[in-house]
Formats: sequence, C-alpha cells, structure tokens
Amino acid sequence: MRDANCIFCRIANGAIPSATIYEDETFRVILDMGPANPGHALILPKEHFADVTALDEMVAAKALPLGAKIGAAMKEALGCDGFNLVQNNGEAAGQTVFHFHMHVIPRYAADPAMVSWTPGSYAEGEMDAVAEKLRAALQ
Ligand code: AMP
Ligand code: ZN
Repeated sequence: MRDANCIFCRIANGAIPSATIYEDETFRVILDMGPANPGHALILPKEHFADVTALDEMVAAKALPLGAKIGAAMKEALGCDGFNLVQNNGEAAGQTVFHFHMHVIPRYAADPAMVSWTPGSYAEGEMDAVAEKLRAALQ
C-alpha cells in the first residue's frame, strides 16, 4: 500500500525529490533534512508500513542488512568512526513520521552521546514481575 497523504510514501516513490543515496525495488535511502551529523540517512520502504510492528517480514529481513551496508559506506566515504541504527516506534518513542524508517547516523569519536539513557534500577521482585508479564505476552 502506498499512501498519497504520507510524505515518506511520496519521497520513497519519487513523487517528491530527495537526496537519494541508494535505491532498489524495496527501499529508497535518503539524507535526513535535519541531520544529527552530515550524511545522516533514512532507509524508507517504498510500501507504507506505519512502524516496525506493521512491517512486512520480507521487508524487515532486508532492512537490517541494508543498514549495515549504508553504515559501512559511511565509514568508507565519510571517515566516521562508527554509526547508529536508530528506529523509533510511536510518538512516546520519538517517532514523528508514521511511515517506518530506520536512521543511519554517522558517528565520530568526539561526538556527544546521542542515543543514551540514565540507567535505572528495579525494586525487590520487580524485575521478575516485569519479565513474567512480558513472557506471558510473548506466548
Ligand atoms: P522520526 O523522529 O524517527 O520519526 O524521524 C523523522 C525524521 O525525518 C527526522 O529526523 C526528520 O528530520 C526527517 N524528515 C522529515 N521530513 C523529511 C523530509 N521531507 N526530507 C528528509 N528528512 C525528513
Ligand atoms: Zn507512507
């Protein structure tokens, strides 16, 4: 499904011009217009999937190897020291465009942390209770 009202559907299918760095039958990879670092890329499936929970399994299987390929190209072409693959699902998780996309962000040794959290802790028994809830949902 391609949604005419979805900006990433329109970009991925070429209806809106973009700084495309890679394209195949399943994906278009473009530069993010608000980059964390120059070269920050977005992997966009050409079909519309709102987020990772809606993603077709064949598309999902291709997304991670493509992230690795783009990241390796960034190391070669830009000389970055590493890269982040970041993928947000839901508003609470920072998703602002509701068409699945994976960020590929070139990273340098001197960069501040961009993907981080303050490690918390569990109360007595809480970890087991949370694990049990998740195991039940996964059955
Ligand atoms: P997220 O917050 O994970 O949904 O990421 C959405 C990303 O899309 C942000 O980093 C935006 O800078 C980027 N973005 C939104 N619209 C465009 C656009 N038209 N072209 C390129 N990047 C875009
Ligand atoms: Zn879309």
